[in-house]
Order: sequence, then C-alpha cells, then structure tokens
Amino acid sequence: MGTRISRVHGRMVLDSRGNPTVEVDCLTEGGVLGRAMVPSGASTGRHEAVELRDGGERWVGKGVDGAVANVNGAIAEALIGMDSANQGAVDAAMLALDSTANKGEIGANAMLGVSMACLRASVGGGEIWRHLAAGGDGSTSLPVPLMNILNGGAHANSNVDVQEFMVVPHGFDSFPEALRAGVEIYHSLRAVLKEAGLLGGVGDEGGFAPNLPRNEEGLRFVVDAITGAGYAPGEQVSIALDVASQEFLHEDGYHIDGGVLSGSELGRLYSSWLDDYPIVSIEDPFGEDDWDSWIEFTQREGHRVQVVGDDLYVTNPERLAKGIEIGASNAILIKLNQIGTVTETLEVIAMAKAAGFGTIISHRSGETADSIISDIAVGTDAGQIKTGAPARSDRTAKYNQLLRIAEQCSDYAQIF
Ligand code: PGA
Ligand code: ZN
Repeated sequence: MGTRISRVHGRMVLDSRGNPTVEVDCLTEGGVLGRAMVPSGASTGRHEAVELRDGGERWVGKGVDGAVANVNGAIAEALIGMDSANQGAVDAAMLALDSTANKGEIGANAMLGVSMACLRASVGGGEIWRHLAAGGDGSTSLPVPLMNILNGGAHANSNVDVQEFMVVPHGFDSFPEALRAGVEIYHSLRAVLKEAGLLGGVGDEGGFAPNLPRNEEGLRFVVDAITGAGYAPGEQVSIALDVASQEFLHEDGYHIDGGVLSGSELGRLYSSWLDDYPIVSIEDPFGEDDWDSWIEFTQREGHRVQVVGDDLYVTNPERLAKGIEIGASNAILIKLNQIGTVTETLEVIAMAKAAGFGTIISHRSGETADSIISDIAVGTDAGQIKTGAPARSDRTAKYNQLLRIAEQCSDYAQIF
C-alpha cells in the first residue's frame, strides 16, 4: 500500500519570532513526502493543550528538543506501517501514547507536527482542501479574511490594550478582490498613522503598532484607513476586534484605558463601540473563565455582532459544548495547536457548525511558512480565516495559498 507511513522524522526549525518550533517529515512507502511546521502563541489560553518546551538557558528556555525526541522516538515507532490516509487512526495512535488530558507528556507541538505532515503525505500531489471537502459534506468556499492591521496587547510594545484591530472585507464578489481591498487599507493605515506622527514599527502579526491615548482611537484610525483607501465602512469593509482580555484581567477587574472595569461595565463599553463603529466581530471580550460576562453580552448583543471564543474554548470540544449549552458566544476561533491533532480540530469545527456557530480558522502570533490553515479554511467551508496583516512572509504565505486555491474555487463566503 503506497500510502503506508515508512518514516517519521522531526527536527527543530525557527518560527517568525525567532523561537524554536517543530517541523516534521512524514514519508510514505509510495515515496511521498508530507512536511509541516507548528505555530506558537503568545497570549496563550490557560486551557490549551501543552506546548512542550525544554526550559533552562538554551534558546531562552524555548528549546523543543524534548518534543522532537518524542516525534523521532515514541511517535515514529507507533506510526510506521500505518496508513497515512487514515488520519483518524494515526491521530488516535498518538493520543494513546499520552496518558494526560492535555497532551503534557508527548506535547501538542510534537503531535500536531506529525498530524499535519501525515495529512499532507496522504494527499500525495493533490490538494488538501479538496481532500478535506471530500471527507466532509463536499462544500467549499474561500474564507472572508480578518486582517489584523493594527497590533496591540501582547503582540506589540505599545500602550494599546486591545490586541488586534482587524479589517473584514466582506462586501466583495471574490476573495482576490476582497484581499486587494484589505491590502490597500493596510497601506492606507500606514499613511494615516504617518500623517498623525504615529508610524513606528510593526507588531508580531505584521500590523502597525502605535501608542494611542485610548483604545477607541484605534477604531477611529482604522475607519480613516478604510475611507482613505476609497472603501465604504460597514458596507464593503467592517472591523473585527480581538480584545484578548484575559491579558488585562486582574483580581480587581479588567484594566483598560487606565481604569478598572467589571465584566458588565466592559460589556457596556463594547456596546458603545458597536453603536459608533462598523464592528462585526469581537473575540475574547472577556476572560477565559468569566462565563457570566460572556452570557450577558451575547444575550444583549449577539444579534448584531459575532462574539468569538478563543482563549475561552481553546478549540476544545468539552469547553465548546459548555459554551453552546449556556449561550456564551455565537462563534469560535479554531487553532490546531490549541488541541493538537487534525482529527480533533475537524471534530470541533463540525460541532460548532452543527450548533450554528461561526467558525474562524486561525494562525498564531508565532508562525511559519506553513499555509495548511488556508486549505483547512476552504476545505471545511469555515467561512472565515484570521491570519494577520498582509505583510511578512509568515502571514502572506496564507493569503498567497488562498490566491492559488481561488484559481480553482471561486465561491467567496457570504458572511456579515
Ligand atoms: P496568540 O494570539 O497566537 O498569541 O495566542 C492570537 C490570538 O489571540 O488570537
Ligand atoms: Zn485571540
């Protein structure tokens, strides 16, 4: 059988922040090589699967020698001879090696590298997005991109609390036209910030990273950038935020704009932003265990804004099931390395869709040239992708892969 796995080989490579990460080669008896690289977060949720790091002084504590050793040892031993085309069995075999609930022994970074490399190997010279669509209900679409053009929070050395100000080019007939609008707005924002004397460096995801007197100023600048590029805010291009509020949640409340707010007060602040700006999506508006604030806000505003759980759900089926049951949000961010295998990721996407939740396939702030999330977004008909600014090769790799797929699949998701 040509698709049988003949070799699994892990190695350390570097990610976009200059930190070690795991790359895996999966070879089949038919001579196909599947290769994948694993991303890494900065504003990591407490409930995520474990990213195995060596600690100590080498690589500033971020070495992945242990994870690589697990790929080349226990995982390779378990997988050689298995059919790479049976993703479910491959992932189950890896899960069986780890007795913990959070992949703390083998490492989600070790497992995910193998899982994605196996998926790539199994399609041979074919397209991953087609393969995934065939394994699902067959539907595909190019996702609406949530493009992070202004970076704050843990991704920037600035005073801005909100982590991501994104533009959402939804009012277009095709992905390439939508992408062009996003790119033109990115360049427009550069001009707007330069004019205001606020143009400095960029953040981890390629977006500009100015200091601002208040978070709301970020919204104002993004609207100016949209109009400056000649687009209609709200009609053609709207705004999405990732507040990543867990990062500024302390014992006494949410520290934002120099003050301290309760969950209810913070929700009211968002409501005022919804009144004044064309915001279609808010991610992690509240902390990862502040379920009550999520419910209150989703009940009040869920009809007019997408409420997205990232740190809240960590792509975990149990946490998502709870959120669906209690109405904590109406959408989920999907990150493969939060859960650690392709199979589990696909299951969570299916569960979210069945509940009528929006699904956004996402990169991490620490990325690589790997563009598998683009294929996953199209092949699962997720509807949305979040993959940073249209700048820096780690981010544009995903947009460029979508441009390639757009040559064969012209449907642009109709969201918002
Ligand atoms: P992270 O940020 O990759 O640093 O966690 C991305 C996000 O919060 O969505
Ligand atoms: Zn997030």
